Amino acid sequence: MNEETTKIPQATAKRLPLYYRFLKNLHVSGKQRVSSAELSEAVKVDSATIRRDFSYFGALGKKGYGYNVNYLLTFFRKTLDQDELSKVALIGVGNLGTAFLHYNFLKNNNTKIEMAFDVDKEKIGKEICGVRIYDMDELEEKLEQEEITVAILTVPASAAQTITDRIKQANVKGILNFTPARLNVPSSIRVHHIDLAVELQSLIYFLKNYPNEDTENSQDKKNLNG
Ligand code: ATP
Repeated sequence: MNEETTKIPQATAKRLPLYYRFLKNLHVSGKQRVSSAELSEAVKVDSATIRRDFSYFGALGKKGYGYNVNYLLTFFRKTLDQDELSKVALIGVGNLGTAFLHYNFLKNNNTKIEMAFDVDKEKIGKEICGVRIYDMDELEEKLEQEEITVAILTVPASAAQTITDRIKQANVKGILNFTPARLNVPSSIRVHHIDLAVELQSLIYFLKNYPNEDTENSQDKKNLNG
């Protein structure tokens, strides 16, 4: 993201990709205007939050008219640096890592997994969906050479911190951590932690303990409106 977004609240920044994805779909379907109520229904964020979010980047919807889809799209594209490709490396080509290589975020035009790393000699040198798997011995060198800025960690938890300490040396700015390990990083690196097992357990817990709550994406709403 560029400088402008560093001034907006983090909770707002987190919702930007969500708005962006929905607006892109609207644009494809030929829609030119959207109201905050429509947006709210689609992205499950309350409309007051949407209006507040949009006010941070100067997009002011008119009553009864809504927001101009093209204007917002151009704005989000610029704000999210959608024109600038972020190079991503995946570390750990196990079951989850392999799935990511197949998926490879192809619907997002600004992110791509460029290379992968593993310690398993059987996997090193192979390609999955055009992404080559390198030996961990080459990690720092390749990350720097290819100007990788984001690393996805899909290794066993026990290996996560050692790998993190190594990628600190390269120019990596962000880590998407799929391991249960809590990572120590310097302030120059941002870590987003996604523990799929915990998310699943938490969902099941809510289903069991709050069965009668308004379930229409209520937990989802809690996360996004937070
Ligand atoms: P698989 O079925 O291929 O073993 P998995 O997801 O069940 O996958 P994990 O033990 O979680 O297996 O390991 C994920 C991947 O991380 C494996 O491909 C493994 O070879 C790799 N790996 C393990 N330790 C390291 C390490 N220190 N550095 C890089 N990759 C590693």
